[in-house]
Amino acid sequence: MSLLKLINVSKFYHNKKNVSTGFNKVNLSLDQGEFVVITGESGSGKSTLLNVISGLDSYEEGELYINGEETSHYTEKDYEDYRRKYIGNIFQNFNLVNSYTVYQNIELVLLLNGEKKRNIKKKVLEVIDLVKLTKFKNTKASKLSGGQKQRVAIARALVKNTPIIVADEPTGNIDIASAKEITKLLYEISKNKLVVVVTHNYEQFSEYATRQIIMHDGRIMLDKKLKETEEVIDEPPKYKNITLLNKLRIAFRNVFNIKIKFFLLILVYFILTISVFSNYTSLNMATYNNQMFKTSYVFNDSSEKRIIINKKDKSPFSEEEIEEMKKISNVKEVVKDDILIDSISILECASAKIWDSVITNNIANVKKVKYGRLPNEEDTSNVAIIKIIGTVSKNEAEKYLNNTFSYTTNNGEVVTRDLKIIGIIEEKDNAELIYNNTLYVSNDILSSARTDINLFYSDIEVTLNNKIYSSNDSSLYFNIKPHDAVSPGNAIVSEDFNMYCKDYNCLKKNIGINIKNNYYATGKELYIIDNFKEKTINKKLGFTKEQYYEYNNTIFMNPDEYKQLFNENTYQMSIYVNDERKIDNVTKELDKYNVNIYKMVDMTSNIFGSILGFVTLFGKIRFIVSIIVLFFICYFIIKIILKSRNTYFSTIRTLGGNKKVLNDLLNIELLVDINIAYILFTTILILIRHKIILKISYLYQLSTFFELKDYIIIYIVLIVMSILIANRYSKKLFGGSVMSNYRENE
Ligand code: ADP
Ligand code: MG
Repeated sequence: MSLLKLINVSKFYHNKKNVSTGFNKVNLSLDQGEFVVITGESGSGKSTLLNVISGLDSYEEGELYINGEETSHYTEKDYEDYRRKYIGNIFQNFNLVNSYTVYQNIELVLLLNGEKKRNIKKKVLEVIDLVKLTKFKNTKASKLSGGQKQRVAIARALVKNTPIIVADEPTGNIDIASAKEITKLLYEISKNKLVVVVTHNYEQFSEYATRQIIMHDGRIMLDKKLKETEEVIDEPPKYKNITLLNKLRIAFRNVFNIKIKFFLLILVYFILTISVFSNYTSLNMATYNNQMFKTSYVFNDSSEKRIIINKKDKSPFSEEEIEEMKKISNVKEVVKDDILIDSISILECASAKIWDSVITNNIANVKKVKYGRLPNEEDTSNVAIIKIIGTVSKNEAEKYLNNTFSYTTNNGEVVTRDLKIIGIIEEKDNAELIYNNTLYVSNDILSSARTDINLFYSDIEVTLNNKIYSSNDSSLYFNIKPHDAVSPGNAIVSEDFNMYCKDYNCLKKNIGINIKNNYYATGKELYIIDNFKEKTINKKLGFTKEQYYEYNNTIFMNPDEYKQLFNENTYQMSIYVNDERKIDNVTKELDKYNVNIYKMVDMTSNIFGSILGFVTLFGKIRFIVSIIVLFFICYFIIKIILKSRNTYFSTIRTLGGNKKVLNDLLNIELLVDINIAYILFTTILILIRHKIILKISYLYQLSTFFELKDYIIIYIVLIVMSILIANRYSKKLFGGSVMSNYRENE
């Protein structure tokens, strides 16, 4: 039985316009041990015949038998198997991997054959010695002469150790002296193999040929046996599958092999990484900005670190409880004047105006200011230090410093005292993205601000002459104010109140004051000890006559009792945690205090859930669309970069690498690239976060915005994109036979 047998085999080339014949109705039988030399003029079909024999190209008609087996039903995979088990190719133009060294070119075959690392070295060095290239073993293939290149190709065919060696004009591109060596080498390695050589120069091979074939116009004109050959008992060829380790070896070599390709790929992937990051950020920022936007209506500070608590039984918090809560782990701050956090204030003086401030912490806690100074002993209680978001110029600072501002909250509806700004803190890198300036004031100011806001938010009921008048809908228009002249339990009211009392006299009557707000309800029963009119207001209360019309509806009460009504206790507080991810540990501890707990995260998403949902849905669609667009842009750029490597992939296929191997090699290579790009980018981002490089506040904000979760999501998106790119590309590579791919690249 012949090793190869062709019966009436024809090969046609189908071009766009016409069909041309490669060769026509060839009948041939080839055996192991033969050294067949094919000659014929150019275009007679020699190369086409070799390619069909070596399974690099398909045929149209007839039947090719391999070891007696029909091949007309062969799939691409069967051909792959055939090639890797049977065929060693030597080409006129060598088809070496130019960026590999001599050693690596030969080693590649063994790696693809699943050879173990420790066996490889010995074998490679042996054949390198055989083809006399030991001196050049670490020279890149691109630096070799034609003869040397062909010797590498022969060595490669030799280590592949296949029963068939096919050489298409192996001496066509090399000088005569080298050609002699090549023919001899070919002969030497041909023992027990079938060697089929195509040549223009029959003389070079006549010494070794056992059979001569002449082709003409696609047909065999002469087929002459020159020498008898020995019968060879053929063993079925052995082939091991490539191991994962070998794939990794080849792929890693390819990553760094061609510097320019490596840098281009990293650049493309780096830009891809940035694009995915910024798209992902704008998706999340949309949600975030939305959250910021809504807070101006409900909660001024909607930080995820904030928890609001009040007692289930509506009782106030005691100082001991507050101290205990401060000690819970992960608690950063307990803010008693919770309501002030959600009241935006405006500071105004003749020459300047400062918007969006929140009055909070005690001035005594401030350690350092950028402009101005810290408070000292001589200061009155109306001094303040302001922390401004953004940059403050010296000029601007001078406009604020030592000016007395009127301080109003809730769009000017609540007016409190005047404040003198003595110091300015600048907050350039606002990691928490809270847009408000912070006012640090004395306890007095803080307390008066709290009173005023509580008064503003409270419903007040006055009981006079057994009738209840409410501040919401009242025929009795009244106001309540503290005054030092009033002793506890008593009230001094305007004479105008008399009309609501029996006999038009309210003096020595009781007046009840009840207040109710979101946090608490309380009341006082007072005794009207005196009243005042325009003439007596100065004597009794110290106001001028003109001021009477400002106070003619006012109930004056004792300052301490006034405080008890509007400022005495803490009914609601805000607790800030250090780490919002561990917020549940804190809420668990707080449960012990019999409190209602509102996590700011829940509150905000409940109220504005639907708007938020819409924004994020839109954002998500936009995110996905941009990822798809990015994918295609990236794919086309990578396609161009890898175009120069198509020859490499075809070479791998002639050496026995199949579709899966190629796909894996490409995948590993691109995955290594994307990982390098990703690590590069995240490293830069982390360095920015820790303010080691690039002090740009936008990038800093961006970097603080990302959590581990975000890094993982983006990583997965990038990996999936890289795999899709590799698969799409290798699918395209396998559109045609090996030869048609080679052709495309010429
Ligand atoms: P040889 O190697 O003997 O010079 P080839 O096998 O290369 O001859 O070519 C045989 C015939 O097939 C020629 O007529 C040539 O024009 C044609 N041919 C070869 N390759 C192609 C191709 N890729 N497309 C179309 N026709 C081809
Ligand atoms: Mg040819």
